[in-house]
This record gives sequence, C-alpha cells and structure tokens, in this order.
Amino acid sequence: MHQVPVSGKLFSWYTQTKLIQLIPSMPELPEVETVKRGLLGVLPGRIIATVSVDTPKVFHYPTEATRKYLIGAKIIGVERRAKQLIIGLDTGYSLVIHLKMTGQLVYRGSERFGAGHPSASLVGNLPDRSTRVIVVFKDKTKLFFNDQRKFGWIKLVDSNLLTDKGLFEKLGPEPLESSFTSEDLRHCLLRRPKSTIKAVLLDQSIIAGVGNIYADESLWAARIHPATKVALLSAYKIKSLHRELRNILLIAIEKGGSTDRNYVDALGRKGSYLSFARVFRREGQPCLRCNNKIVKIRVAGRGTHICPHCQKLLS
Ligand SMILES: [Zn+2]
Repeated sequence: MHQVPVSGKLFSWYTQTKLIQLIPSMPELPEVETVKRGLLGVLPGRIIATVSVDTPKVFHYPTEATRKYLIGAKIIGVERRAKQLIIGLDTGYSLVIHLKMTGQLVYRGSERFGAGHPSASLVGNLPDRSTRVIVVFKDKTKLFFNDQRKFGWIKLVDSNLLTDKGLFEKLGPEPLESSFTSEDLRHCLLRRPKSTIKAVLLDQSIIAGVGNIYADESLWAARIHPATKVALLSAYKIKSLHRELRNILLIAIEKGGSTDRNYVDALGRKGSYLSFARVFRREGQPCLRCNNKIVKIRVAGRGTHICPHCQKLLS
C-alpha cells in the first residue's frame, strides 16, 4: 500500500456504538441514504492523517492534490447524490464514493459502523483481502473502503464541481427533494415517451437512485403495468406514481434499506424493507390488494414482479 503519513494531535470522538447494517449488492437510493446517515454519525469533525491505497483503479489521485486537499483535512459533512456518497472536507474538496456491487465502508473506532455489500469484512478483522483504501484519522480511528470486485471507486473532487452542471450533469433529479413535484416527474418521464415506464424509472439520467426493487414496488402501488409506454400514462397515474414512489423510498430508508435474502446477518440490525415488500420477489404469492397471484415477467431486461389483475397493460 502507498501511504502518505502526516502527524498531528489526537482528536476526541463520541463513544456511542453504531450497529452494523447490511444492504444488498445492488444499492439503490434508500441503501445509500442508510450508509450516509451512518457515516454522518461517525465522521464529521475527524481529521485525515493518512490514506493508503492498494488499487489505483479504485482511488487514483495525484499526490500533490492529495497532500494539499486530503491529508490534514477535516470532514465537515456527509451527503448523498443519487447512489454516490459525498464526504465534504474543509479544504474545499470532497471525496465522492460509489460502492457499486461489492463496495463497503467500515468505520472502526470506539464506535463501529459498517455498511455496504454484506460480507464478513463488515465485522471481521481489517484490513483484509477486500480492503482497497484505508483512511486513518488523527485520533487513530479508521475508515476502510473494501471492495472484492473493484468496481467501486473514490474520487477527490473540487467541491465546486459537485453540482448538476458539473459532476452530476448526467443525473436526473432526486425523487425525495421536497421541490420534486408530480409535474416534475411527468416532465422527466416524458423525455422518453416511447419507452416503458419501468425502463425510464431505472434510467438514472431521468430520475436518480431508483433501481429494480423500488421500481417494481412503486408501479404495483400505483397500479401501473411496468411495460406501459410512458406516453400512455395519464397525469392522474403519474401523480399516483409520484406519491407512491416517494412513500416507498421513505419507508425503505426508515427500514434501513433492503437486505437481500442470500446475505449473512452479521452482528447487528440489517435493512428490513424486503420483509415489507408488497410485490418484489413475491411471485406465486397472493396480491395484497386483490388476492390474485403475483407473477414474474421480464421488462427492460430485468426480472419484474406484477399483479396481472391490478396492473393492466394499456395499449
Ligand atoms: Zn392485485
């Protein structure tokens, strides 16, 4: 590992213990929001002493910029944009992180917090074989970025570029912003009128952060068949979709995201949204509205769960 050491005085921190949280391998908005909230509880105020990187592909940075804007920087906030985490620094730069399929962020101090791809590394001894980046703070606590498959990444970016005209130019609006109205949703969706509503919901440049689980859930709740062409949706239906999508994302955040059924339940609480899911992965079970059987079909190249009775295909 390449290391840039810097000395400094110890920094005090809270002593509260954070529980381990698990999320599925394909994080969507609620899962990343859960990570953000966990990190927000442990990172702000900490000062970065050293950063070690074992895979330049994961965190490639010019040494000069790192020395100037990263080492010695104090963390001033943690935010989320779509599925990306933003750790703000007092140097005017930010660490932008994408966990992708198998990324994890694990904080170890007197408190512990770990979230991301649910593997034993969340709770085991670190660093281990999946560790790509280690951030050591002046108080000797550590933040590990683990990523078995190395698709995830960390970038050191000028915070002024973290705007919808800069780095986030290709991202659609955040569906949970209070300013995001059903008229905004309609406007976004109509950029792809000939596509199926499911494909458009999954398109991150149309709306940010929605993936397979929450697309299926919100379409079921709004009684829309996922293969319906956007142009055929009434304003009323879009209003209903807007309401249901936001409700479902908020419930999922409240539940700590959705832990996939195949993953280990390690030390603490895991995301529990899937146990509340009303259609996702419920094929063969009765629809909670009409009692007809949920079926699994394929839309937009993805396994898609619907109630064929409640979600009629318009044509
Ligand atoms: Zn039904």
